Amino acid sequence: MNKIGQLILGIAILIGITAFVRHQYNYVIQKATAKHVATWGQQRKCLLCNGTGHVTSWRSHGPGVTPMSEACQSCNGTGWVDGPP
Ligand SMILES: [Zn+2]
Repeated sequence: MNKIGQLILGIAILIGITAFVRHQYNYVIQKATAKHVATWGQQRKCLLCNGTGHVTSWRSHGPGVTPMSEACQSCNGTGWVDGPP
C-alpha cells in the first residue's frame, strides 16, 4: 500500500472512531438526562440502603457479631423516598 492509501485509510478510521465516540456520548447523555427527568420531583433512590430497602446491622452475638438484614428505617423497606433531597 502506498502512502496516500495509508493516509486515506487513517482518515477513514479516524472518522469512524469520531462517529462512534459521538454516538456513545449522545447515548450516555440521553440516558443520564432521561434518568434525571424521571427521578426529579418524584421519587429518588434511598441513600441509606442504596435502593435495596434493607440495611445490614451488626448484632453482637456472644464472642462475635452476626450480620442482620432488616428493613430500612429511612424508606420503610421500599428503597425509594419522595422528592429531591
Ligand atoms: Zn432505605
